[in-house]
Amino acid sequence: MTLLSNPYLPTRIKTLAVQKAAFLDRDGVINIDLGYLYRWEDFQWMPGALEGMRQLQALGYALVVVTNQSGIARGYYTEDDFQSLSNTMRHWLHGHGIDLAGIFYCPHHPQGSEKNYTEVCNCRKPAPGLIVEAAKQLGLSLQDSVMVGDKVSDMQAAESAGIEQRYHLTSDEPYVGCRQVGSLIDVAHALVALDGNTPAS
Ligand SMILES: [Mg+2]
Ligand SMILES: [Zn+2]
Repeated sequence: MTLLSNPYLPTRIKTLAVQKAAFLDRDGVINIDLGYLYRWEDFQWMPGALEGMRQLQALGYALVVVTNQSGIARGYYTEDDFQSLSNTMRHWLHGHGIDLAGIFYCPHHPQGSEKNYTEVCNCRKPAPGLIVEAAKQLGLSLQDSVMVGDKVSDMQAAESAGIEQRYHLTSDEPYVGCRQVGSLIDVAHALVALDGNTPAS
């Protein structure tokens, strides 16, 4: 589990003692989940993802990606491939007014083919390791944060980490204790309806 350093990190995130975050799963939330995606050419934004991230940012949430990338352990692509895609995505978002506070990923899998990454770890969701580590490194308040994911394992990781506001992006029944949403815009709209969330501008 590694934090990619962010040259665009806003200073308010570094200096505020208590910062709320929107933890975002990547595949199926930010981009369409094509399965083991690692090339920018194949990257397609999910409907509402950009506008949703923009609105969450305006509400004062640090945007933190937490993503399982077992394709690395399985040998489908390398950690360098993943970081290259991440850097391109982050740069593109920055050019469109959206800054990611961090990208935390799990490269492991218990049954991988790459022995350096084959292990039972504490960062592969549904384990809470990525979220806990992000909170520690970035100084995030988990009780003020939200998690958005498309899989039950995302919701379970958030629950284990102590995040009460969990948004399940699904067309089916949401996981127990979670609110169903159809896109990141829905999440932003739901948060606007809560007390204490006022757009910055
Ligand atoms: Mg997903
Ligand atoms: Zn892991």
